[in-house]
Amino acid sequence: MNNNNGNTRIHQLPTEPRHFDMFIDGQWTQGSALKQVTRMSPAHNVPVSQYPSGGVADVDQAVAAARRAFDHGLWAKSGADFRATVLLKTAALIRQNSEELALCETLETGKPINQSRGEVLGAAGIWEYAAGQARALHGDSFNNLGDNLLGLVTREPVGVVGLITPWNFPFFILAERLPFILASGCTVVVKPSELTSGTTLMLAGLLKQAGLPDGVVNVLTGPGSVVGQAISEHTDIDMVSFTGSTEVGRLTMAAAAGNMKKIGLELGGKNPQVVFADADLDAAADAIVFGICFNAGQCCVSGSRVVVHRSVEQLLTEKICSLMAKVRIGDPLSESTQVGSITEQRHIERILGYIEQGRKEGAVLVQGGARIDSAQGMYLQPTVFSEVTADMVIAREEIFGPVLTITAFDEFDEAIRLANDTPFGLAASIWSRDLETSLQATRQIKAGRVWVNTTIAGGPELPSGGFKQSGIGRETGRYGVEEYTELKSVHVQLGERPRWVEV
Ligand code: NAD
Repeated sequence: MNNNNGNTRIHQLPTEPRHFDMFIDGQWTQGSALKQVTRMSPAHNVPVSQYPSGGVADVDQAVAAARRAFDHGLWAKSGADFRATVLLKTAALIRQNSEELALCETLETGKPINQSRGEVLGAAGIWEYAAGQARALHGDSFNNLGDNLLGLVTREPVGVVGLITPWNFPFFILAERLPFILASGCTVVVKPSELTSGTTLMLAGLLKQAGLPDGVVNVLTGPGSVVGQAISEHTDIDMVSFTGSTEVGRLTMAAAAGNMKKIGLELGGKNPQVVFADADLDAAADAIVFGICFNAGQCCVSGSRVVVHRSVEQLLTEKICSLMAKVRIGDPLSESTQVGSITEQRHIERILGYIEQGRKEGAVLVQGGARIDSAQGMYLQPTVFSEVTADMVIAREEIFGPVLTITAFDEFDEAIRLANDTPFGLAASIWSRDLETSLQATRQIKAGRVWVNTTIAGGPELPSGGFKQSGIGRETGRYGVEEYTELKSVHVQLGERPRWVEV
């Protein structure tokens, strides 16, 4: 295997797949499923998980359970201290079971075991943070409406939420949404990706152990086009929170129109790394390599487009290529691996298609560009194209793999124009030692998250979400709980109300 130094393995491959049931109304069930989905480890090509292929009848059952739990149960009506206690117990249980969760995540996604550990422990921290937010959630008051009127703005949980999640960070993305939904008092029907449902189902077991009342969280497995679509359409669901591709996000939005559901969309990105001439090029090169190789580039916030000042373009490109050659790619169960397998056969073919497209469009391939030969697993060489122009497909579409494009600029305004020149607006990084340059750039770039002299950093305190076709709404931070509430304005008359009809 290319580049893999040392291959200590703590975990062995399972001899048979782990069997999962769906989780509806606090019970484990096969539901209406007539067949099973078998998930093969993308890195080892052995069956690792099996879940029921649920259908529309299961969606109806899960929604009815979530509806009952919301309308008649204790969850929304109890004090926030109860919800916070359950979230904190869940966090503790995630920590206790972190190695088992990390192993399942690695086997299903192909990501390095060390990275999975980091994501699982990071997720526990988010559950803890959200527990605090449950108790901090509050409304507003207006005492300035005159002697006779008092205004109150209260927040109420929106109701039953359908939560649809992708395969790239199954457990972490769930943690960026589910505890916030629960903190607000909502009940939930979750549909994880059919490729990576294992850790979401394991979490359902931990929630039960933590004392979550039946029906508050239900987890369904099965194809997105059936189960996901039925959730988006369901008229007893009040809000749908979807994370995934812009293409499917558009379908979800249309399906949600039936009963005018509230909608949260976290979609794709084509995120610029804007490097000005005065930047620390060594720091930028390292972060750019991390930003495009982390999770094999299968990251909504991957910094996939370098936009660099022409005077430092060549030097930066050399530094990026030299660091990229040292990245350890290989078996995700190996403790030293930094980049594992691509998650799906269809997806590696799609990425290779984009690489071919880049060649045909006239971009210059300076590094990588091919599959790494291996008896098992789907490994890709991290790939760099230079002399990329803004109109090329590889500069405009989300490749969702370790493929970096480099485009040069001459003036500040041109850098900003290039940075903003895609239908997306999810994230951006700016590299400059000059305060004026970096702050002006943060103001002018259209993206939900902007990093200055770093990339893919931060915690749950700040919100995440996208401008333009990268989405609607925000997750995490206090905004992440507020997202799952409705505002109610209450006007209270104090004293006598002036009569309208003369008597
Ligand atoms: P995807 O859109 O194919 O699938 C996402 C989820 O939607 C899965 O659970 C899938 O089963 C379900 N689904 C499929 N068809 C559906 C339908 N018709 N109705 C409802 N649900 C349906 O995305 P993916 O391939 O799993 O993930 C990769 C994409 O997700 C990338 O575009 C990436 O940028 C995006 N993403 C965005 C964020 C973010 O926070 N902005 C985070 C992670 C991933």
